[in-house]
Amino acid sequence: MSERDPVIIVGAGPAGLAVATILAQAGVPSRVFEAEAKLPRDLRAGSIHPPTLEMLDTIGVAKDFLAIGIRVPSWQIRGREEGVIVEWDLSLLQGETPYPFRFHCEQFQLTPLLKRRFEALGGTVQFSHRFIDATQDADGVTARFETPGGIETVRGSYLIGADGARSAVRHLMNVAFEGFTWPERFLVIGIRQDLAPHGYTLNAYVADPVDWGAIFKMPHDGPPGLWRVLFPPDPALPDEEVLGHDFAARGLKHFLNLPGPWDIEHTNIYRVHQRVAADFRQGRTLIVGDAAHVNNPLGAFGLNGALHAAFNLGEKLAKVARGEAEDSLLDRYVRQRRGANVAFVQAQSIRNKQVLEEKDPAVRKHNLDELRAIAADPVRHKEYVVRSSMIWSVRHAASID
Ligand SMILES: Cc1cc2nc3c(=O)[nH]c(=O)nc-3n(C[C@H](O)[C@H](O)[C@H](O)COP(=O)(O)OP(=O)(O)OC[C@H]3O[C@@H](n4cnc5c(N)ncnc54)[C@H](O)[C@@H]3O)c2cc1C
Repeated sequence: MSERDPVIIVGAGPAGLAVATILAQAGVPSRVFEAEAKLPRDLRAGSIHPPTLEMLDTIGVAKDFLAIGIRVPSWQIRGREEGVIVEWDLSLLQGETPYPFRFHCEQFQLTPLLKRRFEALGGTVQFSHRFIDATQDADGVTARFETPGGIETVRGSYLIGADGARSAVRHLMNVAFEGFTWPERFLVIGIRQDLAPHGYTLNAYVADPVDWGAIFKMPHDGPPGLWRVLFPPDPALPDEEVLGHDFAARGLKHFLNLPGPWDIEHTNIYRVHQRVAADFRQGRTLIVGDAAHVNNPLGAFGLNGALHAAFNLGEKLAKVARGEAEDSLLDRYVRQRRGANVAFVQAQSIRNKQVLEEKDPAVRKHNLDELRAIAADPVRHKEYVVRSSMIWSVRHAASID
């Protein structure tokens, strides 16, 4: 029997490092292989929901993470014309979670903490190892990696593809990545100016038929931090033009309706997809995180959903590897996390975008009035924040057999 062969984990992003750390904590050996030469300084995700902090706490990472980020006690939905439409009070989550707030800290600050914890438990991450392909038999998997020293072959008990949206492991499984790509790109601009004096909460979403978007305050490299402003530029304009600081400055002036000048730290542009893999498992090969599902960032469900899946998979795989459960438990991971992703992450992130960008004035008014009515009713307000903080989706997933 080969169950003591290490689990092979492809990708040292948040999902791969979380699975590895959960396994290490349960005494199950794994090896992490990362294509890049070091951990990427990833400017992508940065908004963390309470269940994710609860999960990170179980592997001893929450305390250090909380020490370097920003707590967000409330967040707004605004109209570009109307100003504040609703402000959601996250203190209503008290009693539902030990962390009744959103938490802002960039992905590039989380992955070193996860790596350090994994290494403290005896694990190692091998960089400059790009997964090529693998075969599996009844006892295990044999994977091949391209390395600076040539092709390396590794034997393991299971193969976990945590290798992001373009996952080579998913391609090897030959499962469809079902869904669609939005026509517009999202432009993200990091600025030093403080938006709080202009009435913005540390996280705010802006509804507008044309110039919808989102705003997040991030700790970045320490105080005073950075405000990130996200909006979709005209699809006709080339990337090089919208990434230029002149374009960004004009865009900020218009979007925020503030004169500037702007101290621009960075600009990034990216395409946004809504896709879920048709299956997350083929025998001893499984996918997790962005390799299995991707969504737009309106609601901050990507990294959080990736980590919720990583904890679900890591805990089940640890039981299987330790001989405490049949390997059919891994099918439950697929049912729970594929189910939660389709029922909540995909549906809600698409809905969030539609509410922000609604063009029909009557539908827009109806949507925004409905949000105002929810916010004014304490019971519905609490239900809304339980749902939008992903507490509901984690509980829903746990209820799937
Ligand atoms: C602009 C932007 C903003 C976002 N904001 C948020 C947010 O606020 N909140 C939120 O929850 N989510 C957000 N997301 C989504 C979030 O960034 C992703 O969901 C998250 O990175 C997924 O983690 P992962 O570990 O699954 O994949 P990744 O972070 O993509 O990690 C995959 C790793 O695998 C490696 N790899 C790839 N191919 C191979 C190979 N063949 N061999 C070996 N290694 C390989 C990669 O180098 C990488 O290190 C945002 C995304 C974007 C683009």
